[in-house]
Amino acid sequence: MRANKYFDLICGSYEPAVSDQHVPDFAYNPLNTSGKLYNPIIDNEWLRENKPPIWPDNRKFAVCLTHDVDSVSDFDPRQNIRRIKKLLKTTSNRSLGETARKVVEHNLSALKGLVGKKDNLCEFDKWMDLEAKHGARSTFFFAPEKVGQPHESDCMYKYDQKIKYRGKFIDVAGLMREMDSQGWEIGLHPSWHTFDDLDEMVFQKQQVEAVLDHSINSVRQHFLKYDPLNTFKVQTEAGFKYDSTMGYNDNLGFRRGSSYLFNCYDLKSDQPLPLLQLPLIIQDGALLAPDKGLRLDSDKALEYIKHVANEVRLVGGVLTLSWHPHTFNRPGYFDVYRKVLELLEKDDPWFATVNEVGDWWRKRSEIDLLKFTKNIPSE
Ligand SMILES: [Zn+2]
Repeated sequence: MRANKYFDLICGSYEPAVSDQHVPDFAYNPLNTSGKLYNPIIDNEWLRENKPPIWPDNRKFAVCLTHDVDSVSDFDPRQNIRRIKKLLKTTSNRSLGETARKVVEHNLSALKGLVGKKDNLCEFDKWMDLEAKHGARSTFFFAPEKVGQPHESDCMYKYDQKIKYRGKFIDVAGLMREMDSQGWEIGLHPSWHTFDDLDEMVFQKQQVEAVLDHSINSVRQHFLKYDPLNTFKVQTEAGFKYDSTMGYNDNLGFRRGSSYLFNCYDLKSDQPLPLLQLPLIIQDGALLAPDKGLRLDSDKALEYIKHVANEVRLVGGVLTLSWHPHTFNRPGYFDVYRKVLELLEKDDPWFATVNEVGDWWRKRSEIDLLKFTKNIPSE
C-alpha cells in the first residue's frame, strides 16, 4: 500500500479485488466510514491552489445524463421464452416457489404479447423529448444481444425486438440508429462476465458497432460490476476511450473522491491507462428503489440530489446521472428525473454526452488528478 491516501483512493487500491468471480462489496469505499462520501475531497484539494476546470461558453460545471438500457419491453413472447429457459437452467440460485412464480409471470407476459398487447415499458421518446426540452442529449448504454459467457443477470433483449417509438413500432436496432442520428450517444453496457475477458468485451462492442456502422467510445459495466485489477485494462484494450462505471448501486456520491475526469489506473502494472473515467455520481435505483439502497421517497431523493449536485457545481466538475429507461412507469422515477433537469437547468450547466465531455476534457483540460494526487505529501 502506498502512503498517499488520495492517490490510493483515485487509483482504486483500497477497493477489494474480485474473488471467486464475485465482487465482494459493490458499495465499498474508505470514505463511507469517514463521512466524506458526499464531498469530492480530491477536487477540493485540487482547488486549494489551482483553478477549476473550464467548460464551453464559460459554463461553471457539466451535467452528463446517461441511461443503462437493461430491458426494452415486458411482453415480447420470444424474450419471455428466453427468460423462462434461463430460469429453468439456474434453479439452484433460488427457491422452487420463486422459480415457479417467475415462470408463471413470464408465461403471462408472453401470452399478452402473443395476443398483440404491446407494453410501454421504456417510452424512449419521452426521455428524449424531456432532455431536448432542456437543450440536452444523453448517452444510452445498450447491452449486447449475444453473450458468449452467460450469467443470470444478462439483459434479454434482441436488436430485432419491436418497441413503440413515436406511435409506431420499430426494432431496437432502428431505435439505436435513430438516437445516434439525432445526437444522442450510444455506448456499450457489457454483461457481467466481461469484467476480465477481453474477447467477450470486444465481441459485445462489435455488436453495437455493427448496428451503428461506426465505432463507439463509451462503456458502463452492467450492475457497475468491475474488478479494479482487470476491468479498465480490458476496456482500454477493447478500444474504449471513456468509462462511467465508478459509482454506486446502493448510495450516491464520489466513489473515488472526485467529480472530475481522470485516467483509470492499471494497478497490476502500476501505470495510468489512456481510458478516462467519468465517475457516476447519482443513479435512480440507489435512491428510489423500495427494496435496496437508500429507499427514499421523491422529496428526500431530491434533497440528496440537490446536495450532491451543489458539491459538483462548487468544484466545477461533472455531475453524471444514470436513470434506467425501464423505470418509466414506476412511481417517482421519471418525475424525479423531470424535476432534477428543471433544477439543474437553473444553474445553466453544460449538458453533454459522455463522448462530448470526454473529448472536451482530453483537448482542453490540463488537470491530471493522478499526477496531482501522487505529489500530495503524505500526512
Ligand atoms: Zn445494467
